[in-house]
Amino acid sequence: MCQQCLDAVQKHWPDLTPSEAHTLLWEATCFPFGRPEQIEAQVEILARRSRRNLGFALRIADWETDYGMQGITTERMSGCR
Ligand SMILES: [Zn+2]
Repeated sequence: MCQQCLDAVQKHWPDLTPSEAHTLLWEATCFPFGRPEQIEAQVEILARRSRRNLGFALRIADWETDYGMQGITTERMSGCR
C-alpha cells in the first residue's frame, strides 16, 4: 500500500483508524488498481456522499458495483458469447 493512498485517506477521512483506512481502500475504491489520483478522487467523493460514515460509504460502493455489473449483464455479456 503506497503512502500516497494512505495520505489521501488521512486527508479526507482524518478520524479513521489504520484498520478502517485499509477497509475503505480495499472495499470501497479500486485500490490496489488505478493511480493514486483516481483513488484519492474516490475517497473524496465517498467522504462527501457518506458524510464520513464508513458503513454508509461501503454500502454506496457495493451499490455502485452491483449497478455497474447490471450494465455489463444487459449490454456487454452478449459480446462474450
Ligand atoms: Zn497507492
